[in-house]
Amino acid sequence: MARYNNILETIGNTPLVRLNKLAPEGVNLYVKIEAFNPMGSVKDRMARAVIEQAEQSGELKPGMTVIEATSGNTGIGLAMVCAQKGYPLVVTMAENFSVERRKLLRFLGAKVVLTPAAEKGTGMLNKASELAQTHGYYLCRQFENEVNADVHSRTTAREILADFAGERLDYWVTGSGTGGTLKGVSRTLKSESPVTKIVVAEPDNAPVLASGIAQPRAEDGSPSASHPNFRPHLMQGWSPDFISKLTEDAISGEHVDEIVPVAGSESIELSQRLAREEGIFCGITSGATLAAALQVARRSDAGTNIVCMLPDTGERYLSTPLFADIKEEMSQEEIAISQSTPGYQFVSLDTPQVAGSRELAEVDGAAQAHVEKLLQQQSVVMFALEWCEFCWAVRKLFQAMQLDYHSADLDSVAYQDNDMGGKVRPVLLNITGQPTIPQIFIAGECVGGSSELFAEYESGALIKRLQRHGIAFNADANIDLNAMMPQWVQPRQSA
Ligand code: PMP
Repeated sequence: MARYNNILETIGNTPLVRLNKLAPEGVNLYVKIEAFNPMGSVKDRMARAVIEQAEQSGELKPGMTVIEATSGNTGIGLAMVCAQKGYPLVVTMAENFSVERRKLLRFLGAKVVLTPAAEKGTGMLNKASELAQTHGYYLCRQFENEVNADVHSRTTAREILADFAGERLDYWVTGSGTGGTLKGVSRTLKSESPVTKIVVAEPDNAPVLASGIAQPRAEDGSPSASHPNFRPHLMQGWSPDFISKLTEDAISGEHVDEIVPVAGSESIELSQRLAREEGIFCGITSGATLAAALQVARRSDAGTNIVCMLPDTGERYLSTPLFADIKEEMSQEEIAISQSTPGYQFVSLDTPQVAGSRELAEVDGAAQAHVEKLLQQQSVVMFALEWCEFCWAVRKLFQAMQLDYHSADLDSVAYQDNDMGGKVRPVLLNITGQPTIPQIFIAGECVGGSSELFAEYESGALIKRLQRHGIAFNADANIDLNAMMPQWVQPRQSA
């Protein structure tokens, strides 16, 4: 279908893609890329199904608020569905899940209520049901809701069967979070393709399913305590601290043939190798599922057909260990490429060629005059870039100080004529000796960049400087400098 009536119709029918480099010779290893769903994860399927079932049953009425406890993907899927259908959404999430997930949810219009990491998955769940009971919200209950499994029987499993019509599928490999994918797909495969072996991966440091130890449960079936074998692990979205009802159903229904332990480090490595060697960009549990699928593939004969689930996109993990080795600055190798031709070289203070050299740059007369005029006319001037986070940090500080300032945004439309923005840069380099932006001037004197400005604020020198020049500001403002700097330069709190 080329045209859709709304975004929800694009959920599902994700592609099965053959791995050409990572799979052992002769083994047909296919990955089912759930990142093709509109919000980039397998949970879009469940989100739509749960909401539509609740609408049909009458449990969810127009205008009601939807609530769910989720590590992110379910929430992101629900946020899309609720946005499209017009329901307010509240998501409870433990504070230790990645920041991108919170931001994505809020971008889609949802409210995110954080719970303490120490309370683990059960804390998120308990908070969600507490809020649902108190305020009459519709609680999705993804861990027990049969609709979460049914949608996978109806869609995911059918898609796999259709893609293997007339062919034998030997293995289907998955992980398990709520167990919706596991229960729903395994049930249908067991009845329609009994030769297919079902393999479930779990973190090697939290062998909850492999232990065979039963999950402690309350009378209503909900988990009453963390599973004794649970340990925190890297695979966000897998194995919460309890065995969910849906996962338990799949195991007690004898739909699971094998449980495979997977190491966090291998999961990350395989997620990176999927990107670099196959061009497939996925999250950590995708690498983890692939680790299990490769264990199966290595001991399989040529011609074996394996399907491995890849639950979500990698974009959700920029602040997690998945991207820990990926730097923002240019590497030595990249600098060498840059310097291998004369033009358009970006220089930062770390660029070896520039550090220490203080030759005057050639400047444009009009740009020089413009800078001089600004510095004469305005008592506080920041030479800035509209989209630079360090400039934002300075803006936040000045705003909090109620300090009037002029921002000369060198990348703005106003500076595009005649490339004035570009021409001002060498003028600034000559004055300050620094190639970086922002550069802040007070009463014509150069203070430096955002770090120098913040250091002056902290030492009290900035306040004295402003007072010396009779520049008005609010000296009593209560300012948390840390909160103003970009988050990725702030000291990290361990989870
Ligand atoms: N991987 C990720 C990244 C997830 O967010 C989830 C869902 N929590 C899963 C895997 C597992 O899917 P399911 O809930 O269907 O077991």
